[in-house]
Amino acid sequence: MIARILGAACAVILFAIPAPGFAAWKPAQPIRIIVPFAAGGPTDTVARIVAHEMADMLETPVYIDNISGGGGKTGVLRFLEDARDGHTLLMGHMGTHGAAPALNADLGYDPYKDFAPIGMAAGTPMVIAVARHIPARDLKQLGELLRKPGSKFRIAHAGRGSVSHAAALLFTSALSISPELVGYSGTGPALNDLVNGQVDVLIDQIVNIAPVVGTRKARPLAIVGDWRSNALPDVPTTRELGVEMKMDAWNGLFAKNGTPENQVATLHTALRYALDSPSVRARLIDLGASLPDEATGSPDALAHLVRDEVARWSAALFELRN
Ligand code: ASP
Repeated sequence: MIARILGAACAVILFAIPAPGFAAWKPAQPIRIIVPFAAGGPTDTVARIVAHEMADMLETPVYIDNISGGGGKTGVLRFLEDARDGHTLLMGHMGTHGAAPALNADLGYDPYKDFAPIGMAAGTPMVIAVARHIPARDLKQLGELLRKPGSKFRIAHAGRGSVSHAAALLFTSALSISPELVGYSGTGPALNDLVNGQVDVLIDQIVNIAPVVGTRKARPLAIVGDWRSNALPDVPTTRELGVEMKMDAWNGLFAKNGTPENQVATLHTALRYALDSPSVRARLIDLGASLPDEATGSPDALAHLVRDEVARWSAALFELRN
């Protein structure tokens, strides 16, 4: 407890002492974080977890506003309209600031030029999960099921350009199959339909899949990529299973391009304060997320990540975008 108080005191002192050349920025009203997906998804989960501690540091309420639609595009465009008030932020991710430009010819925003990155919030590995009615016990059996002539399977995702949409395209391309892809306003509603058997497969960020798997309401078949997850330690990776599929999902906080530097610096300090909080770290790590350190969590690091991700996904998805 003492460490927490000292930590907070140091953070408040840090907050109060403007960085060289900066006057400290103090919010004049509550801060709104737009989550461009329905409540109950990973973007919403990460945003709500960090918002609580950011409010503590900024000494002002920080609330979440879910504006869904278009795979995240609707919420992003609303953010760009409303952010002039200087107190509206966006919780974006590998979809809105990575895959979406490759999957939406008329995206309506530039994921690099239109934003002032504040910092990475969490890395969120992807899980390939199936509904309980699917008789596949592993990825090989799922592939055989999906390849069966005449099979009618439905893969859920959170809208064109979302992380789960990009994952579904990579997965179906890796298996050379073309099942029906069913779009939702976010992982929350998609996961509900996976649990109640309306859809068959969902490939999405672990922070919401792990709890559902924990209550045996869906079955995980693989973690996408090379590394197993502490949240689902017995689930093999696609690499172990010989399926060529790599993607590292993440969530990051953004202000609008043109936001004064001292404001970005203060918001970054508040995000770091949240991510250094033992309760936030414990909750996110328990859910399978990985947390950035000061270097990988800096505004510059997020700016470079967005540039790399947009380039990577435009190459990876170009032939899959139709
Ligand atoms: N991350 C989105 C959500 O939180 C879903 C997605 O991008 O697939 O709902």
